[in-house]
Amino acid sequence: MRRLVLASSNPGKLREFHGLLAPLQWDVVSQTTLGIGEAEEPHMTFLENALAKARHVASLSGLPALADDSGLCVPALGGEPGVQSARYAGEPRSDQRNNDKLVQALASVEDRRAFYVCVLVFVESIQDPVPLVAEGRWAGEMLLLPRGDDGFGYDPLFYLPELGCTAAELPPDRKNRMSHRAQALAQFHDRLRCGVTTECP
Ligand code: IMP
Repeated sequence: MRRLVLASSNPGKLREFHGLLAPLQWDVVSQTTLGIGEAEEPHMTFLENALAKARHVASLSGLPALADDSGLCVPALGGEPGVQSARYAGEPRSDQRNNDKLVQALASVEDRRAFYVCVLVFVESIQDPVPLVAEGRWAGEMLLLPRGDDGFGYDPLFYLPELGCTAAELPPDRKNRMSHRAQALAQFHDRLRCGVTTECP
């Protein structure tokens, strides 16, 4: 069994990664358990922020590390809210205020297509020259009026035309099977399964 540190203090994420990686002989511990604080996320891309978090944890723990970064992108708004998704309307973080700000920004925009993205980065060490990267995207359209009570963040505005509902109207287990996170996790699982030191598809 090998050990890796998850660069997150979210118990839900720890459970999810633990379940996925135990069959691959990886024991997952969270950075909180090791007393490691949060990294800065100053970058303009999800990839750079995830890499910064993974490196931060790898350097302080001396162990392989896994980090994720996710958010919502609206191409017609130049990719906003993007890496600022969690604090789009500033501090303190508020889903309600973020959603209100997005609705305002979209009021006069015709093309309201959007996608959620999740990037996962795994590094063997802080010097790892070939971080393992996986990405998932989930496409939808933004509404101007919220619908549904499940999910979190922008889910009440995130409409899935092929399903005729928002992400907040989907049963949570259904969202968890199709979301950007689920897609990134599946890709990551395949890449890690084929071995971090061998060639991956
Ligand atoms: P984190 O990377 O999990 O911290 O997510 C960053 C931010 O992106 C969240 O605070 C939400 O605003 C947004 N976000 C990421 N994934 C989702 C999702 O599945 N539903 C709604 N909002 C999301």
